[in-house]
Amino acid sequence: MTTPVDAGGAAEVLSRHREVTVLCHVRPDADALGSSAGLARALRAEGVVVHHSFDPGVVPGALRVIPGTEHVVPLSAVPAHDGLVVTLDCASPDRVGDWGRLARSATEVLVVDHHRSNPGFGTHLLLDPEAASTATLVLDVLDAGRYPVDPDLATSLYAGLVTDTGSFRWGGVGSHETARRLLAAGAESTALGFELLDAHSFSWLRVLGELLGTARLEADAVGGRGAVWLTVPNEVVAAVDDADVESLVSHLQGVREAGVSVLVKEFLPGEWAVSLRSRSGDGVDVSAVASALGGGGHPAAAGCTMRGDLGVVVARLRELLR
Ligand code: AMP
Ligand code: MN
Ligand code: MN
Repeated sequence: MTTPVDAGGAAEVLSRHREVTVLCHVRPDADALGSSAGLARALRAEGVVVHHSFDPGVVPGALRVIPGTEHVVPLSAVPAHDGLVVTLDCASPDRVGDWGRLARSATEVLVVDHHRSNPGFGTHLLLDPEAASTATLVLDVLDAGRYPVDPDLATSLYAGLVTDTGSFRWGGVGSHETARRLLAAGAESTALGFELLDAHSFSWLRVLGELLGTARLEADAVGGRGAVWLTVPNEVVAAVDDADVESLVSHLQGVREAGVSVLVKEFLPGEWAVSLRSRSGDGVDVSAVASALGGGGHPAAAGCTMRGDLGVVVARLRELLR
């Protein structure tokens, strides 16, 4: 049975444990790693033994700028223990990867997340779809439990906030208030912002140019709102940084003629990670499309993983995006 909790309830769960495994979603983004690194740091400062990990557990180069990611260990190195497992920014149990062994040995599983599509799992669930980032929820929990927030912790949480709000383009007043708190606590935003939002190698520019030349516009798709599509084959994915591949979706989102963007990435041969974006306020809930394909996310940003022939994958997506 899953008990819904607020930030105070989540802090109470944390206070019961002296050994905690902190996990975030597979192929982590800055919110997954930032929220989990922030929580891990707060618990360690209280003398709690923390295992911070994800499946499989190698931090992407572009995210190593987030303080605390240097303490991430491979999932296979995390001992099964009784006590607590916390999952952060994971919209479903699958998104945590191969963590069954750890979930089974734990006495409690606390889920902290902000995806509307989350069906609810764990023994305790802090789910707020209105939260701008999971990092925001972690700050609420730390405040409720009166954990001190030092500059490194603030920087880790800021990483999740700045990226999940599209650099504060959405998230409203609350996200600016959270930012104010984190900056006042000493969060470093300049070098962090460069590494997370802007940095790439020079050689990426040539690959980017070639890839963008293959993007396709379907002006009539999605009830006339238009869709822009880009597929990244495995030979390209294998030759460049994952973060560069992820950054492609922002180029698609700027296309005026398209209300919906579809980025199809072949991370493994025949396995396609699909990123869907819809222009906010445009009324297309792409998380419904992603959920229908076994994934999930937010109304304006969602994803799923599909297997098989590219033609079939594209046809299935096109059908749901008519
Ligand atoms: P992405 O396109 O990978 O940046 O993901 C966009 C949003 O959808 C993020 O909030 C992800 O956490 C979420 N998401 C991506 N893939 C999945 C999935 N397979 N299941 C649930 N949520 C997902
Ligand atoms: Mn995430
Ligand atoms: Mn998030």
